[in-house]
Amino acid sequence: MKPIIIQNSKIPVYLSVFISISAITLFPFIISRDEMSDVTIRHEIIHIEQQRELLVIFFYILYVWYWLKGKVKGMTSDEAYMSIPFEQEAYRKMYDENYINKRKRNAWKKYI
Ligand SMILES: [Zn+2]
Repeated sequence: MKPIIIQNSKIPVYLSVFISISAITLFPFIISRDEMSDVTIRHEIIHIEQQRELLVIFFYILYVWYWLKGKVKGMTSDEAYMSIPFEQEAYRKMYDENYINKRKRNAWKKYI
């Protein structure tokens, strides 16, 4: 199943409570407040794969868990966000056009 991409949406604006969100992925949707670059779309497609592996719900539970873990360690909200293994994988691999085709299942675990 291909992701459903919705651009120029207000949803990311409403969800920007703790951190500024420019795009959010909720399998199978990728929703962004502006037009997305190819790099951003690749970033979000990596999250689609992570969510598929974790049946969406466990992705979000772990996502919040890793974010809180960073906060407890004294990180700022942005630092805590960047420390989340799902984001680590997405940020490191979003420039690689072929990554999604060669990505191994549960590749995000390398970033724990
Ligand atoms: Zn991300």
